Amino acid sequence: MRSTLRAILLLALAAVSAAQQNSSAPHFDGKSWWSHVKFLADDSLEGRDTGSEGLRKAQAYAVEQLQKAGLEPAGANGFYQPVRFNQYEVDEAKSSLALVTGGQSKSLSFADDAFINTRSTRASANLSAPLVFIGYGLQIPEKNLDELAGLDLKGKIVVYLAGSPSDIPTALASHYQTAGERWKSLRSAGAIGTISIFNPASMDIPWSRISVNRNHPSMDLADPEFYETPGLQLGVSFNPASAEKLFEGSGHTFAEIAALGKDRKPLPHFALSNSLKANAIILSKSLESSNIVAKLTGSDPTLKNEFVVLSAHIDHVGIGAPINGDRIYNGAMDNGSGSALAMDIAASLKAHPEKVQRSILFVLVTAEEKGLLGSKYFATHPTVAPKSIVADVNVDMFLPIVPLKILKVGGLEESDLGARAAAIAQSMGIKPIADPEPLRNLFIRSDQYNFIKQGIPSVKCDVTFEPGTPEQKIFKDWLTNRYHAPSDDVNQPVDLRAAALYEEFTRRLLLETANAPARPRWKPDSFFRRYAAD
Ligand SMILES: [Zn+2]
Repeated sequence: MRSTLRAILLLALAAVSAAQQNSSAPHFDGKSWWSHVKFLADDSLEGRDTGSEGLRKAQAYAVEQLQKAGLEPAGANGFYQPVRFNQYEVDEAKSSLALVTGGQSKSLSFADDAFINTRSTRASANLSAPLVFIGYGLQIPEKNLDELAGLDLKGKIVVYLAGSPSDIPTALASHYQTAGERWKSLRSAGAIGTISIFNPASMDIPWSRISVNRNHPSMDLADPEFYETPGLQLGVSFNPASAEKLFEGSGHTFAEIAALGKDRKPLPHFALSNSLKANAIILSKSLESSNIVAKLTGSDPTLKNEFVVLSAHIDHVGIGAPINGDRIYNGAMDNGSGSALAMDIAASLKAHPEKVQRSILFVLVTAEEKGLLGSKYFATHPTVAPKSIVADVNVDMFLPIVPLKILKVGGLEESDLGARAAAIAQSMGIKPIADPEPLRNLFIRSDQYNFIKQGIPSVKCDVTFEPGTPEQKIFKDWLTNRYHAPSDDVNQPVDLRAAALYEEFTRRLLLETANAPARPRWKPDSFFRRYAAD
């Protein structure tokens, strides 16, 4: 009787401790992570803009932490990989946009209607051209979608609604919505400019906040090999609330287009009765910034020449227009959180070493906020042998603002790295899910995409919520109020336990990938397999 009771108690205790182990993070407590976030998001670092003194301070701190964790320098110049950029800015006082119908010109307000986007307008331009509405503006041969078919786009400015029809798989839709891919088909159709209307159904940030920072300079990699939109003379971003102006006299309304776009239905294509008259004055200059690369050398004599990359961007958007009197866009979650995680995981691997057969590369990239530029440079000019990178685990704004019960695994269905991430989450009592919000285009909106384009299986994982729960509202409010706003700072509530659990998950994913006999592979039916040489 006693022994039976004892056995039952022991069993129960074993079950409890197993459950505790499954749901806890033995290597992390969230506190050291938060102290790194606090350093990176301090006002004195002025929002870590690419090329700024604040970013250099953040990088010096990161190098110090990575060095303290025993990592070796693996950049081109110690821990640093220098990268050259060009910066572009609109001189709005000397620029103008107007819609012209039947000889009548109506000027557009930069603040309220539309602005010249320097990501797509690289040189001053003075032009006038007819407008054609091209739906989502996509040519996707894999799905027999050709929205440009039968349209005369020669010398025209095309107008499109951001988004994609619902029958296009997320990855495919994301890929063809990148500036470079989109421009390839528009250029061969003869277009000279673009007007992109934000899709009201998928805007992360309200127009008022987009507009207030529209004059923030944009950047591109200085090396001409990276110029993706040759021949594009003018790119304009349009406020959906003003978009009816574009459609006047066309026999269609923007309300009708937006309603179809909300449900991701196919859109009509037709010539508009307006022309756009534009005078864009663009100022440019060059500057330099760096990626940071640190290495934990693997123990296997052969496999140590292969690398599992943990990437996170350390830059943010700097100082911008004041919101509630605050001009410093601190970037605590975006992406102080991911950079802090990299330092914290490096420290944990020193404090609690484990067998690591492949090497792990810690890559803190610059200029993510300028269009994934630091990672683009690193992925095309890596400081290790190009084919030696076996996987990229990218961490960007993983948002530990609610308890970690559900983990969104970007790339879950694409590779066995995705499958491994899902299995690890499951084993920790966390439910893994694929991206439930394909409209937000997240798969191409962070640094993993540049690794993917080099054929490297990648994942990006984020804390997420069950639809219809109070957590959903917490995320929605966070995006509306704090994302790319000065209030993404250290005075916001975070869940340290969720952060610690996410770090534990990431540590396990890195170690299992470093120690697995085979390097990760794309699934045979993955769209992204096309980039892999094998
Ligand atoms: Zn960001």
